Amino acid sequence: MVHDFGLELTSNSKVGWAFSLSRQESCVNATDLCRRLCYGNGVRYQSDAQRHKRLRNYRTCEFLLGNGGPELLAQNLVALVDQARPVDWLAAQISSTATKLPFSLRIHDVGDYFSCGYAQAWLIAIKDRPQCKFWFYTRSFLEPELLEVLSELASESNCQGFLSIDNDNFEQGLLAFAAYPGVWKLALMQHEQDLLSPELVPAIQERVKQGEIINFPYHRAGQHVKPLKAEPLTNCPQITTNAYPLQTSRSLPKPCQSCNLCLPG
Ligand code: SF4
Repeated sequence: MVHDFGLELTSNSKVGWAFSLSRQESCVNATDLCRRLCYGNGVRYQSDAQRHKRLRNYRTCEFLLGNGGPELLAQNLVALVDQARPVDWLAAQISSTATKLPFSLRIHDVGDYFSCGYAQAWLIAIKDRPQCKFWFYTRSFLEPELLEVLSELASESNCQGFLSIDNDNFEQGLLAFAAYPGVWKLALMQHEQDLLSPELVPAIQERVKQGEIINFPYHRAGQHVKPLKAEPLTNCPQITTNAYPLQTSRSLPKPCQSCNLCLPG
């Protein structure tokens, strides 16, 4: 019997190293809007190989959780995290110098936290690799137990968590944000301004301070919708300016590693 299991990272020209899961199985609180606007709909995410990799990652996580719980999955996640180390990692450790490129990993380029056990595995891995900077965006904040575990992840000094909100879920997102003061930041998926709820920006302004929310105007193929310009939103500069072009060279930092707004610390 052939077992098709394995965990694999992806690397993309915006964030660098990332871990992805299949959306259908893992995006347990996806909104209608994010299903429509999800970057996972883009051509480069839709090849058979990419879809297969995300599904295999998901199935492997479930298999390891079922056979050894969060601890077994965490062992395998830690091995995966180590693959994101910059090439000069060993030399830098021996000579006590900094690596040329940051050691960072975005959790879920595509996909989301689908269970408490899965989130607990990441919590163990994040604690086990304090030198790595982790960050993630999640819509899995509707179940209080899962939100509790994810808030532990977001409380780690080497991990920044963002509650991902849009027109459909901003009220629940702002409630979760307020329930864990100082723990979370918010990520707004902004679509065309004339389709936004008139209550969205006032609700954000009432509860959120500058520096606590990044706005991501919907974009595809180099085009983006007109960005909202309102306090306390900070627009993602990779989308709305030319400051951080996509980077395919392996020896140069990726836009998110240079911009750093979403990374911890
Ligand atoms: S704000 Fe900066 S770190 Fe965050 S997604 Fe945009 S480019 Fe990346």
